[in-house]
Amino acid sequence: MSQRLTIEGFSGQVLLPGDPEYDEARTIWNRMIDRRPEIIARCLTVTDVVTAVRWARAEGVPLTVRGGGHSIPGHSVIDDGLVIDLTGMNAVEVDPAARLVRVQGGALLGDVDRATQEFGLATPAGAISHTGAGGLILGGGLGWTMRKYGLTVDNLIAAQLVTAEGDVIVADRNEHQDLFWALRGGGGNFGVVTEFTLKLHERGPVYLAAHAFELEDAAAVLRGMRDIMPTSHDDLVWSAFFRMLPDWDWAPAGRVGDRVLLAPLAWLGDHDEGRAVIDEYLAHLGVTPLAQSHGSIPYVELQSLNDDLNAHGHFNYHKSSFLKQLDDDTIDVLVRQGSRIASANSQLEVLSMGGAIARIPETETAFAHRTALWPVNVCGIWKPHEDSQLNKDWVVNTFNELRPHLGDGSYLNFGGSDATEVESHEGYGDHWRRLREVKTVYDPGNIFRHNANIPPLSEADA
Ligand code: FAD
Repeated sequence: MSQRLTIEGFSGQVLLPGDPEYDEARTIWNRMIDRRPEIIARCLTVTDVVTAVRWARAEGVPLTVRGGGHSIPGHSVIDDGLVIDLTGMNAVEVDPAARLVRVQGGALLGDVDRATQEFGLATPAGAISHTGAGGLILGGGLGWTMRKYGLTVDNLIAAQLVTAEGDVIVADRNEHQDLFWALRGGGGNFGVVTEFTLKLHERGPVYLAAHAFELEDAAAVLRGMRDIMPTSHDDLVWSAFFRMLPDWDWAPAGRVGDRVLLAPLAWLGDHDEGRAVIDEYLAHLGVTPLAQSHGSIPYVELQSLNDDLNAHGHFNYHKSSFLKQLDDDTIDVLVRQGSRIASANSQLEVLSMGGAIARIPETETAFAHRTALWPVNVCGIWKPHEDSQLNKDWVVNTFNELRPHLGDGSYLNFGGSDATEVESHEGYGDHWRRLREVKTVYDPGNIFRHNANIPPLSEADA
């Protein structure tokens, strides 16, 4: 009988093909990804991470890192290699006096929000609570509060990481400044982050005004978003999602499953003021929602409101970029393709950035899209038994129709399902050369390459 593969000195759980938990451990959010690692190392301590990285190097085994497992292209699982699985390292420690939170590399956003809200505090993060904090932070971090508090990376104070050499270092404004810059938008290219330290803000409930509009009114809503958001108060958040109407308690009887435009507006300041501002903006649209739900919502609830709509276990094929502008021609394409959505979970979404994000200089962090206003995501999401070709075709056709209206690159974390090397490169924008220089210092052998990769510089690049 052959000997079982082990990692000497590893205190966590090692899973191999055939082990009872192996299949569950190799399954990630996007069910379309079906890869079979040679070995999955479920780490419990920083020393485990060090041991796993050193083992992979010594054995010449390719590796990847798994946090929350939400990478849409499946960067967190690898065929015939080692998965450094951080899911067991999900502790969150709040220091309310210092307004800081320390988050282990495998924590989920919900872990962070629940712990920080115990003290009425929050750090800005994404909108679905089962997303991993690790991947989200390293790519930038867009969410409900970004226009007020900045991206998640704008709130990063320090990162402890295990380098390609297997050393444990801390990057912050004083130590390894080049690395600290690169970690704020450069993804998982530089090492395994075992702990993030993030700034906290006082955060109470939010005033949320959710609406569903008929498709024939969608253009008016998007025009309103275009007119209002670029100069609006940082407290206002406004997104637009074409999708089939979910079975929500405020959805009118008989309309569930119809294609609509969902337009949630949230106000992060005083609720009476928010109600007045939002009512004024709605009046400006000149159209009436087919359904709406307005009211105060606790922050943790807001942060998990759409968890079920984005549940695990679906097939996913996404493409993403930024709109050059939300002009009438672009709106025509969005409405046309929004009316052709092919399955109940798919969505075509336009977010609005600006606010605090755009006031930070582009060179401050590696996040490359501070001046972009309108991220656009074409998300094909369907059940495994549904027609994959139909759903993929809708994504590809929509993206092709949008292409003349798209700016450069895409947000790293919404990186397309089959992003090419060129598209990944464009995701880093003007920071490409500087990121490659930092990569050359910290990971010259490109050990961390199963990601939107930043290759180290070679002699040919000199
Ligand atoms: P994983 O799949 O576990 O990891 C992906 C890659 O990230 C890894 O391979 C590795 O390269 C890197 N990585 C992860 N953790 C670490 C670590 N500790 N150290 C080093 N490298 C690491 N993004 C937003 O900005 N805002 C949103 O609101 C948002 N919502 C989303 C909702 C859903 C349902 C999904 C699927 C994605 C969403 N995203 C959002 C995108 C999300 O930020 C990325 O998918 C991100 O990669 C998820 O992080 P993860 O830890 O779950 O990823």
